[in-house]
Amino acid sequence: MDTRQLQRLAHQIETADAVVIGAGSGLSASAGLTYSGERFEQHFSDFIEKYHIPDIYSGGFYPFDSLEEYWAWWSRHIYYNRYVDAPKPVYSSLLELVTDKDYFVLTTNVDHQFQKAGFDKHRLFYTQGDYGLWQCMKPCHQQTYDNEEAVRRMVAEQKHMRVPKELIPHCPVCGKPMTMNLRTDNTFVEDEGWHRAAERYSEFLRRHDQLHVLFLELGVGSNTPGIVKFSFRRMTAENPKAVYACVNLGEACTLEEIAERSVCIDGDIGEVLKKINRSDDKNT
Ligand SMILES: [Zn+2]
Repeated sequence: MDTRQLQRLAHQIETADAVVIGAGSGLSASAGLTYSGERFEQHFSDFIEKYHIPDIYSGGFYPFDSLEEYWAWWSRHIYYNRYVDAPKPVYSSLLELVTDKDYFVLTTNVDHQFQKAGFDKHRLFYTQGDYGLWQCMKPCHQQTYDNEEAVRRMVAEQKHMRVPKELIPHCPVCGKPMTMNLRTDNTFVEDEGWHRAAERYSEFLRRHDQLHVLFLELGVGSNTPGIVKFSFRRMTAENPKAVYACVNLGEACTLEEIAERSVCIDGDIGEVLKKINRSDDKNT
């Protein structure tokens, strides 16, 4: 890892008027919430054997024959990524770095880890949904429903990859099956909480327009770069005082036109944050 880039990032976090964090799946992977390998094999061996599902992400798109099977998969998918604690304290490490700063988080992650780590929920915008919420599949109304109790029961009571029929959730308004509140197509429900968060994010950006803002991008891959990566680079280009930082294992880069105001660190996010936190301790 490039020590000089680490120092630059630490200095930017310390001196910026505001930090806008943009998070992608690499951040949760660094926290140990991996979607393939050991964790997957341990919790989904029956599904792997029967359906040859290659990883957790792919399983979310598998066309199961029945709702009993669908919810057996999804309750485990939700439970092991949303309700259990992350194996490594990467999110807490991040909070430690920005807790005294004026910060805001824009995330495409749906695993609720920012809230679990104690980030102020008024400073969070989770654009793509939340594993902890369900919605009507149609949807007949723009509301979401907390699923924790139902998911825990489904995990506990499923047998042979099927949940009991009476646990299959239905819309309280129209009676159609419920589905995940995840943005996979245009049926995604943007509820009141979503709209309020979107407004708070725009307001935060407006309030810091043309100030020294650090756009800190963490673990955003090249699959869905539009929401965080492209917008962070554009906002940096438009504000001469802004700085763009990109921390990513294997894919840390920037654009020519903002290269002088960019910090790129190719490395594991958890390790990077740990090093910066340690150098902070030394200075105080
Ligand atoms: Zn409905």
